[in-house]
Amino acid sequence: MTFSDLKLNTPLLNALDDLGFITPTPIQEKAFNVVASGKDTVGIAQTGTGKTFAYMLPILKNLPFSRQENPRVLVLVPTRELVIQVVEEIEKLSKYINNRVLGVYGGTNINTQKQAVAEGLDILVATPGRLYDLAVSRVLQLKSIQKLVIDEVDVMLDLGFRHQLINIFDILPERRQNIMFSATMTHDVDALLNDFFKTPERISIAVSGTPLDNIDQTRYNVPNFYTKVNLLVHLLNDTETFNKVLIFVAYKRMADRLFEKLEEVFHNELCVIHSNKTQNYRLRSIEQFKEGQNRILVATDVMARGLDIDNISHVINFDTPEFPENYMHRIGRTGRAERKGASIVFSTEKEQEALSRIEALMQMEIPLIELPEPVEISTELIEEERPQIKEHYNPLKSKAEDVPGPAFHEKKTKNKKVNLGGSYRREITKKYKKPKTRGDKNYNRRNKKK
Ligand code: AMP
Repeated sequence: MTFSDLKLNTPLLNALDDLGFITPTPIQEKAFNVVASGKDTVGIAQTGTGKTFAYMLPILKNLPFSRQENPRVLVLVPTRELVIQVVEEIEKLSKYINNRVLGVYGGTNINTQKQAVAEGLDILVATPGRLYDLAVSRVLQLKSIQKLVIDEVDVMLDLGFRHQLINIFDILPERRQNIMFSATMTHDVDALLNDFFKTPERISIAVSGTPLDNIDQTRYNVPNFYTKVNLLVHLLNDTETFNKVLIFVAYKRMADRLFEKLEEVFHNELCVIHSNKTQNYRLRSIEQFKEGQNRILVATDVMARGLDIDNISHVINFDTPEFPENYMHRIGRTGRAERKGASIVFSTEKEQEALSRIEALMQMEIPLIELPEPVEISTELIEEERPQIKEHYNPLKSKAEDVPGPAFHEKKTKNKKVNLGGSYRREITKKYKKPKTRGDKNYNRRNKKK
């Protein structure tokens, strides 16, 4: 398949030609018709797969020339770097199209951006915070937005932007197409989709379920968090075998909790990356791990995505990933460049189902290793492992967040009123019982006389 099979228009084809791009990447091929159809879409694709063009090509193809000032396409991304990158990509594609693209992000002078917005634009690329500030200031009008793209949804949610996103949904026109791209499928992404979008069409490039032969995979059944820590410490004590270890956890609270525990034993061999850490801290951690100053790196799926580190001796899955694709991405960090690599996965009773899904995807069983003798089995449980006692109705215990909020698509109370027309007349009718019309000013006087 080539780009000409996508029935693109000449300006787009020429721009692609200038770039030297001939064949669409798999995600571009899959996304094109779905996005072009106007349906809500969720694409699962990592950076480097050509995902930006995957959503921009169909959008640009269907965006007619306009002189109107208000933007019609809004692309939300989590970081300023990505704003700059996405703007550049759109500009590359727009070489022969007369459209106006603008990127805005926080940490810079808002007035300059206000001026740029006031000059009129078609496509706005923004970070959520700055977008909201511009909209609130009324310089930016969002009433013409027809397409909303949220790129890197996983990172966005991991950075804690959920509320900001919801606030933005609230000020966007209800009739619009939502297009989302995420590199990893996480619980937060799934929850956002379920809560706010009407049956979006999902597209993804099938993750290969065939693991590399040079990755030696094993697994342990471990009853709980603290026993997992004990096992991990036991393994990591063998510094010769476990010489460059990447440990994966599903979410940042778990990353912190594990880091704290491991720090007691391996304090100067350890670093951690997750989204609550500053970018500088993360970059420093990655550098130290890369250079071998730190032997152990604890990371969440979302943050470890772009990691390109050689010679990782072991990937340890401290938890069993719920989405089997994440397992494939995780273990792919070791065994690079055909070197030998090893992956170990810890699973509790609860995680056996996720384990079966992973094994089903790979069409193989991961060999089980018995817990080594010296590993102490802990009976202490962390908060998430304790049984949840559900009280069906206890008014004293109900919290504000227990009360279901209005659905996203539900209108605000003031907008719920049905317009019956002629409201002034209805008010007056209620008051005087009989219609008082402008055309019959003497009605009351006449009736009084009688
Ligand atoms: P992205 O995944 O959107 O960050 O894109 C990764 C890089 O691939 C960008 O530099 C794009 O310009 C480039 N790219 C996008 N689509 C294609 C294509 N069909 N063929 C070759 N390169 C592409």
